[in-house]
Amino acid sequence: MAEQSYYQNPELWAAHHFLTPAEALRFQQCADLIPSTTTTLLDVGCGNGAFLAYLEARKSTMTLLGIERSEAARQAAVCRAPVQPGSIDALPSADRAHDLVAAMEVIEHLPYQVYEQSLAELERVAAKHILISVPYRERRSQIICPYCNCRFDSNYHMRRFDEIVMQQLFRTFRLKQFQLVYVDDYWFAPVLRAGYRVISRNRDFPATAQCPQCGFVGRSAANTTSAALPARARGGLKARLKSRLPTYKRANWIVALYERS
Ligand SMILES: [Zn+2]
Repeated sequence: MAEQSYYQNPELWAAHHFLTPAEALRFQQCADLIPSTTTTLLDVGCGNGAFLAYLEARKSTMTLLGIERSEAARQAAVCRAPVQPGSIDALPSADRAHDLVAAMEVIEHLPYQVYEQSLAELERVAAKHILISVPYRERRSQIICPYCNCRFDSNYHMRRFDEIVMQQLFRTFRLKQFQLVYVDDYWFAPVLRAGYRVISRNRDFPATAQCPQCGFVGRSAANTTSAALPARARGGLKARLKSRLPTYKRANWIVALYERS
């Protein structure tokens, strides 16, 4: 239940999350992987349609369609392409209905058995290609629910991806091409993040978080650490800190194109 209502939080779909330079780079690398022969594209779990809007801005001639389970996400749609209700584990499409089926930042969120069923569904409705984008070798941070003390991943990520996992993702599609997407990170980030977790005692509850065990939501709670420091001030502090620290390129995502074998 918490798993479904987590995605109903409008804060998750706010356009600003998808307008960062890093997201634009990921979109670009995904778009570059799309074969030129593609005429129809289905974006599964398209969220607010940010990738579809990106393709539209690039004057894509493909027929675009989005499918999204969360009503809050559909209501926040930023694309012109239609976004239909539907769930990745039971797609409302005929077999091989779309040239290319994309699932971007989706499959890392899928629970036990839904994951296996969903990969089979992508294979069923894709005629030629599948495009996948997931976090790369993610170091997942855990927070503690202030209500029930359950420790969990605030992004609802349920697995970790590397080249080997990506190679073995599908039964009837083979990995054709993949790329890592690099973002700027600062050298001391892991130390700072660990320090911050100690200070906040893992109880800094982001506005997008929801406890999977008891359903606690932090977004309106006045007793969270994040409420104590306004988001803008924290963002500004972070930006100032970042600008003074030496940075390096860190592989943040892996994007991959699969071809029917
Ligand atoms: Zn809880």
